[in-house]
Amino acid sequence: MLDSGLPAAQQPSWPDPAALAAAAGALAASPALVLPEECDRLRDRLAAVARGESLLLQGGDCAETFDGVTQEQVTGKFRTLNQMAAVISEGAVMPVVTLGRMAGQYAKPRSSPMETRDDQSLPVYRGDLVNGQDFHTDSRTPDAARLGRAYRVSATTLNLLRALTARQNTEFWTSHEALVLEYDRALTRGTPSGAYNLSAHLVWVGERTRQLDGAHIDFVSRIRNPVAVKLGPTTTPDDALALVDRLDPDREPGRLTFISRMGAGAVRDVLPDLVAKVTASGAQVVWMCDPMHGNTFSAASGHKTRRFADILDEVRGFFEVHAALGTHPGGIHAELTGEHVTECLGGTYEVTPADLPIRYESACDPRLNRSQSLDLAWELADLYAKHQLSRR
Ligand code: PEP
Ligand code: MN
Repeated sequence: MLDSGLPAAQQPSWPDPAALAAAAGALAASPALVLPEECDRLRDRLAAVARGESLLLQGGDCAETFDGVTQEQVTGKFRTLNQMAAVISEGAVMPVVTLGRMAGQYAKPRSSPMETRDDQSLPVYRGDLVNGQDFHTDSRTPDAARLGRAYRVSATTLNLLRALTARQNTEFWTSHEALVLEYDRALTRGTPSGAYNLSAHLVWVGERTRQLDGAHIDFVSRIRNPVAVKLGPTTTPDDALALVDRLDPDREPGRLTFISRMGAGAVRDVLPDLVAKVTASGAQVVWMCDPMHGNTFSAASGHKTRRFADILDEVRGFFEVHAALGTHPGGIHAELTGEHVTECLGGTYEVTPADLPIRYESACDPRLNRSQSLDLAWELADLYAKHQLSRR
């Protein structure tokens, strides 16, 4: 549904268009993963965040993997996010809306289309929805059958999440980057009140695909789900205002979330103008801070990593900007797992550069482990508590 014919950045080169069309057709005939009224309810919850009455916590793997869909790993992410939400909620004295990067986060934008090792060049890994991580021609060739597998593992993930949610009598929402448009379009359904992407409650458009004249922004402009857009350090106020006009023409609180990912060095310089001008336009967006993606670097060992101190510094900058403008620091977006991985540096149980090889399992970007995630939650509890006091 909703194919605009506009150029779409970051799409795989599928070798077999007929197989791709067949895979998309099979998904279009399959049951939806979520219901339109659930998406509406999340939009209501996010409207409360936009009004400054609640907070949003979004987290999960950079890239989910098919093999990572185990009872232990899914439960670990669910528990970590809920425990973080409880800690933050207690400090802020506000409800927290909990949104997993789960049950569909299977496609990745990449900085280069090819990867070269020992003189061999192969298509880059674009997430389990597209190809495999192994550096072999077979596994790296985009395979349309993976769309169906991504749908099925997302369904089993959601099944477990719904059981855990029911047991705890809580609410938990799912999200992913709407990147490979064949997948997201195939799971989009028309309803009397408009089209919904029923592969997740919320989908976002990434920093690399947010072109105003591109297919991704066009797609999310035409679905009724709450949607989000990542804003990197080169975003201008005019870019942000144009996105508001395209994605939230009715100025509906909860419809649009901006996820800033500026880097600790840029957030205090770039974010103020964006927040000031968007606020002045009358839009009530949710402002969320992704303190991960602007703070990535390669360690001497070659591992892609992030320092907990930089992550915290960007979060502090985000709070300073909102405190100065009198706006609401609505939430935090983090890449994390419930496992004791060693992918990000620092934390109370410190991960050092020498520890990185011990348990580095991410299929893409480095994630906070369980202990670092809880460290972040305690810091956020304090930051929100101070922020509330300063506004009384
Ligand atoms: C991500 O969230 O994994 C991602 C690719 O982020 P960004 O679009 O901000 O680079
Ligand atoms: Mn990432």
